[in-house]
Amino acid sequence: MTTDVTIIGAGLGGLTLARVLHVHGIPATVYEAETSATARTQGGMLDIHQDSGQPALRAAGLTDEFRGLVLEGRQAMRVLDRDGSVLFEQADDDTGGSPEVLRGELRQLLLDSLPADTVRWGHKVSGTRALGEGRHQVMFADGTAATTGLLVGADGAWSRVRPLLSDATPEYIGMSAVETYLFDADTRHPAGAKAVGGGSLFALAPGKGFLAHREKGGTLHTYVMLARPRGWFADIDFTDAAAATARIAREFADWAPELTALIADGDTAPVLRPLFALPVEHRWERVPGVTLLGDAAHLSLPNGEGANLAMYDATELGRALAAHPDDAEAALTAYEQAMFPRSAAAAAEGAHIHGLFYGDDAPHGLITLFTGGE
Ligand SMILES: Cc1cc2nc3c(=O)[nH]c(=O)nc-3n(C[C@H](O)[C@H](O)[C@H](O)COP(=O)(O)OP(=O)(O)OC[C@H]3O[C@@H](n4cnc5c(N)ncnc54)[C@H](O)[C@@H]3O)c2cc1C
Repeated sequence: MTTDVTIIGAGLGGLTLARVLHVHGIPATVYEAETSATARTQGGMLDIHQDSGQPALRAAGLTDEFRGLVLEGRQAMRVLDRDGSVLFEQADDDTGGSPEVLRGELRQLLLDSLPADTVRWGHKVSGTRALGEGRHQVMFADGTAATTGLLVGADGAWSRVRPLLSDATPEYIGMSAVETYLFDADTRHPAGAKAVGGGSLFALAPGKGFLAHREKGGTLHTYVMLARPRGWFADIDFTDAAAATARIAREFADWAPELTALIADGDTAPVLRPLFALPVEHRWERVPGVTLLGDAAHLSLPNGEGANLAMYDATELGRALAAHPDDAEAALTAYEQAMFPRSAAAAAEGAHIHGLFYGDDAPHGLITLFTGGE
């Protein structure tokens, strides 16, 4: 590479890019807003897909290490009706092809695979500007700045790099998730633990539901999904954990108690996560010296693919840069031409899946999907 690569964001996308570049002998610097690797819990299970996340980890040379992080048995899944009856159940017979790992552990694996000092923590980008001839300046919140000949925005939904390429901003999808945990659930919350089972639980109805996972050591991690305007959530004081919990639980008052318990008996303060998406066909004209990957490029309705796609984008971009060491523009063109239709298809699929999860036919659309009818 005849130029330095500057990556904004040390999420799974940015770190995978840094790692794939490192494998090809190309140095990169990653600027991350968070102050350290442990500044924020990186909660959540991710199933790593055969056609995206897994090839990315192969390209990163980390397949064996990734296998070491897989939580056995977590590909089991259950779909429950609101009264708690089991509508669909699938055991983890190790043929699912999408092993589950903890996001935080995967991120740490990528961090450990990079040369020291690749990630500059505590560097929150406040703005960017073009300097001409493909060079850009990146300004940080602490008043410092960096210039680069190749800038990659891997800084997620609210990317500060995106404005160099596109006027698009994410829009609220009309639904939010409320995140909560139950710890040591087999002992302390046995009914909830039984409802979730060994892997994932989907308990859905039109416009609402519970998505829960069994993580390590009897930890149940739940996203309570609710289709309500942002103003509805704004009226809830989430600094008052007990009151917010009770308010959200009330929306499920007529549901089976073992399901309502996933929010009502939460061991953590509920965390509101409003959900946003970019337009499905989001794309931009080529601008020399800069591109985006992952959520910065194609934040979509939740489709279980976002992290996988971010890692896949990163791999494709890293490979393109390695294949065109003296022509970054050719690399960025090749990367974007493949990425735009790939991410548009995934975003459209996300919209379709969202309809199956929360549409008028919920939860039956999801069961049709799982049984191969969609
Ligand atoms: C509730 C929920 C559940 C999900 N479940 C799944 C799932 O099961 N499977 C799946 O594949 N995907 C899932 N996703 C999607 C997935 O989380 C994202 O698509 C994925 O994290 C995108 O990765 P990324 O690297 O592009 O961005 P991010 O993970 O958002 O990383 C961006 C990084 O940039 C940093 N950053 C942001 N702004 C700045 C700044 N100004 N300056 C410097 N650094 C900055 C951030 O701190 C962060 O470290 C889920 C999303 C949500 C909301």
